[in-house]
Amino acid sequence: MWHVGGAGIAGSYLYRRMQDSGIESMIYDPRVENFYIPCGFATNKHLIIPYLSKVSVDLGDILETEASSVTVKGNNFQETEFRPSGLCTINKMELEKKILGNGEITRSTIKGNDGNIVDATGISRGYLGKIPGDLSMYAVEKVCRESPFKGFHFNFFKNGNGYFWSFPLKDRYHIGAGGVNLDEVQASLAGYQGERVLSRKIRMKPTMGNIVNGNIIGVGESIGYISPLLGEGIVPALESAEKLFQAISRYDDYESITRYYGQSISGRMKVFNDISIMVSNIQHGKTLNLHNILTARKALSEVKNFGMNPDFYKIFAHFLSAGK
Ligand SMILES: Cc1cc2nc3c(=O)[nH]c(=O)nc-3n(C[C@H](O)[C@H](O)[C@H](O)COP(=O)(O)OP(=O)(O)OC[C@H]3O[C@@H](n4cnc5c(N)ncnc54)[C@H](O)[C@@H]3O)c2cc1C
Repeated sequence: MWHVGGAGIAGSYLYRRMQDSGIESMIYDPRVENFYIPCGFATNKHLIIPYLSKVSVDLGDILETEASSVTVKGNNFQETEFRPSGLCTINKMELEKKILGNGEITRSTIKGNDGNIVDATGISRGYLGKIPGDLSMYAVEKVCRESPFKGFHFNFFKNGNGYFWSFPLKDRYHIGAGGVNLDEVQASLAGYQGERVLSRKIRMKPTMGNIVNGNIIGVGESIGYISPLLGEGIVPALESAEKLFQAISRYDDYESITRYYGQSISGRMKVFNDISIMVSNIQHGKTLNLHNILTARKALSEVKNFGMNPDFYKIFAHFLSAGK
């Protein structure tokens, strides 16, 4: 029996995949229905569609807006507009419900320790527990009726300390900021009136060796499977859940499952880890070494995958020099 703790993106997806394959499983989450967890809702339609099709969800049922323009600015560079590729906003809460389908959530934490437990609890690592050196940033988001930015807008803080965003939804905007300094984050949002103001921390570094603890395995943000440059975690959460599902489908014994899963996520975990170190070096004003420069290419590729076109390279080069 698999007990999935957390009915966010990763947990819901994994549970649905197991249910559809006849693998005995239950899902738990103490969160009340429709409780708003902060998230910009931005993703890339080309990357998310393959996962949606595996759980019979149509993009049209959860799509909020598709980006037609993206503007980016920063401390050291002028606002630049460029053409997006697949960047969109989706209704993440609706997506979680649609993924679950008829599946029922037990509205509590997991009690007892029988069977296998999946920690899909995001930032809280409710089952895997805290680890030394865990790295997170502050994030605050306002749900607004108006925004001065009609398209998708990013404004990077000085020294790579974080960024401000405004993303259009169907009839609202998600305006938020994430960064290492809470005062800077809040100051960037001071002029915006939100119907709701939400905040939580966001994990900014993969937990590398800490993805399994006894009978508990982590997926999604609980193991830092999230792009540390932009804090993009929706598609990575689906990706890690699919990889764990593949491992569970393939092997009967727990040891082989954890080994196969660990191997299948290790390549992307290393990329996330390298980017996280590069960002930290920029933030601390350290001179970037050759490895960091090579990592910048991987970071650029992550950003392109998110839906930004190659013109972003110019801004990225500027961003890299901002800490000097
Ligand atoms: C402000 C903000 C903006 C963001 N914007 C974007 C964006 O625009 N695009 C993007 O791709 N990513 C974004 N992210 C990141 C993205 O939201 C997450 O990385 C992603 O949702 C992680 O999915 P998950 O399933 O791992 O965890 P979550 O979606 O966080 O789900 C965790 C679930 O676990 C539940 N839970 C907690 N403790 C327990 C427990 N003990 N037992 C059972 N259940 C428990 C919670 O109630 C929750 O439902 C943003 C994050 C923040 C904070």
